[in-house]
Amino acid sequence: MKQIAVLLIALVTLGLIIGCIERLWPAVRQKVFREQWRVDVCYWFFNPIFTKTVTTICVGVVIFSVVALTGIDADVLRTQGFGPVAAQPLWLIVFEMLVFGDFLGYWIHRMFHHVDDLWDIHCVHHSSEKLDWLSAVRVHPLNDIFSKTLRVLPFAMMGFPLTALAFYLPVLILLAIFLHANVPWSFGPLRYIIASPNFHRWHHTSAAEGQSKNFAGLFPIFDWLFGTLYLPQKPPVEFGISEVMPATFFRQLAYPFKPQRLGNAVTEVDTRSDQATGNA
Ligand SMILES: [Zn+2]
Repeated sequence: MKQIAVLLIALVTLGLIIGCIERLWPAVRQKVFREQWRVDVCYWFFNPIFTKTVTTICVGVVIFSVVALTGIDADVLRTQGFGPVAAQPLWLIVFEMLVFGDFLGYWIHRMFHHVDDLWDIHCVHHSSEKLDWLSAVRVHPLNDIFSKTLRVLPFAMMGFPLTALAFYLPVLILLAIFLHANVPWSFGPLRYIIASPNFHRWHHTSAAEGQSKNFAGLFPIFDWLFGTLYLPQKPPVEFGISEVMPATFFRQLAYPFKPQRLGNAVTEVDTRSDQATGNA
């Protein structure tokens, strides 16, 4: 009950603060209670309560495996790390975790876009057609479990103290909420240094406009290095996917396992032929 109360307070607080900012500087004019806001509220409560538990178990299995492989004590692995990495000053460890974490995040995110079965999971997140701060939390549980577990494994193997990740992940969550906000901010000349709402909102546009661009969560330099940077000055206005995503929470959870996949394939072909003939 306490966790639900904390989540409810955070939801109302962020809703008031970021909601006001979105009303004052909207990138796209849309209703306060836009379509499917209730679905996103379900994710707001479901992922921290259910998904986080499963993710923690999976991360525990990773740590247990690294302990078994290296013979290093689990507590030392968690709190101090090991080897040359752990011998560095704390500020350098934190900096390396941010940069290396974003590098890993870039490739994991790109993989979610280019492997069909992973896209079936990740496209749930991309299905929001009205993008705002709340749509940041529309993430399928498998998306969260896979991406966090895959990220922890290299950190553990290289000797980074894993408790530092416990501070790093909440920062990423808050940043993700900010990057989806319905504001046109691009940070001017800093737009190549640090991810902005404009940078990430282009990532959410349709496939034709930029969907497979801007994969970095923090540093656009990775998109620049690997040829996926896309930063028009104007803010994007249309978001979503070509697949037909169910409109309810539980049907979205079932979507990657979809018997309806064949139906979607037909719909996709129909949509593409409509686009080709200028009807979409
Ligand atoms: Zn994506």
